[in-house]
Amino acid sequence: MNKNTVLGVAAGVGLGLGLAMYLPAIKRKVQELLESPRGVPGKRVVMVTGGTGLVGKGIETVVKDDPEATDNEEWVFLSSQHGNLVDREETEAIFRRFRPTHVIHLAARVGGLFANQKYKVEFYRENVIMNDNVMECCRKFKVQKLVSCLSTCIFPDQTTYPIDETMVHNGPPHTSNEGYAYAKRMIDVLNRCYSEEYGCKMTSIIPTNIYGPHDNFSIDGGHVIPGLIHKAWKAKQTGENLTIWGSGKPLRQFIYSEDLAALTVWVMRSYDEPEPIILSVGEEDEVAIKDVALMVAEASGLDVDSRVNYDLSKSDGQYKKTACNDKLKKLRPDFKFTPMREGIQKSVDWFHANYATARKGH
Ligand code: NAP
Ligand code: GDP
Repeated sequence: MNKNTVLGVAAGVGLGLGLAMYLPAIKRKVQELLESPRGVPGKRVVMVTGGTGLVGKGIETVVKDDPEATDNEEWVFLSSQHGNLVDREETEAIFRRFRPTHVIHLAARVGGLFANQKYKVEFYRENVIMNDNVMECCRKFKVQKLVSCLSTCIFPDQTTYPIDETMVHNGPPHTSNEGYAYAKRMIDVLNRCYSEEYGCKMTSIIPTNIYGPHDNFSIDGGHVIPGLIHKAWKAKQTGENLTIWGSGKPLRQFIYSEDLAALTVWVMRSYDEPEPIILSVGEEDEVAIKDVALMVAEASGLDVDSRVNYDLSKSDGQYKKTACNDKLKKLRPDFKFTPMREGIQKSVDWFHANYATARKGH
């Protein structure tokens, strides 16, 4: 061996030893980079779980023409095709793939009164697991802010009115949806826990009943407005009556999906408390189910005097869940809600125009 070879071997061994020494640190750095948000400073990468649902599609519509979104944000709208959020590995793979700086978590097992009554176990388990996976991934992948979605139907059943954000845990929810309600309530608990223990910025919105284009128009499994819209469409085709399930007396507040979408985007950008915020029309805009059904009948071109009847064998569910939107009004005094008749007409028109592809299954 000549001198050069010896020097070469020595250098090789030195380099090898050096690499071996630093390899764990290099590996750690690469892993850290792979698991950190991908946005350039000042730009947000916003990932919306449940991006193909009623609210997700509303957000897609709202941000399409929003200069702040075009200039400073990249939006990713997920469907279940991107991965099953009930599965931890698939959830991690989604976070690794998109590396969001911000997450709006809408994905959920969602349904109306009758689906909630029938599948309490599935509503509890799927939601609790999905929420746990998404929240833990937001911590692990260093997401800067998570906004999750609760609902006014998770509030206590026996309560005083109006209900506000401080009352989420003040008593059991209505029995008809206790699986869904307890799963959703845990999001609020964990928002505070993650904030205290890990310094994560996590919060939640509490919408009332939502309706709009891209809703789930399943008659058996969906909510009241899309269910009535589908039933009114059928009544028109067959000449039968539009049947309101239950007495029509329960009271509800409704928010048009694109109004909720605009407010949710504002929460993601500007609302920084871990405590939830109710996103709802005012108490004065609460309506009886009967009046909602008449609005749907009218918007669908049915004669409201002769073509509407009741099926009293069906449940009324919770009588009311009147929510107070004072916190929202204080922060967004400028916000104008879509009048209900206009929102219903738009939803009916959307369903008629998209009948072939609209969600109508269970
Ligand atoms: P939706 O129309 O039923 O859409 C549900 C979305 O979640 C879809 O994008 C669906 O993806 C996705 N999803 C469901 N299971 C999933 C899974 N295992 N893995 C991945 N994705 C999954 O729901 P929405 O009405 O927009 O509701 C949005 C949020 O608002 C939910 O958190 C809901 O609890 C809350 N909320 C709704 C109402 C209401 O009246 N609708 C009222 C209050 C609160 P696919 O399209 O691929 O199936
Ligand atoms: P909730 O607000 O969580 O109870 O859920 P829904 O959106 O399913 O609304 C349920 C209320 O609407 C109950 O009072 C039902 O009796 C009444 N309702 C009347 N017709 C229908 C219908 O076609 N579908 C549904 N889901 N509810 C209906």
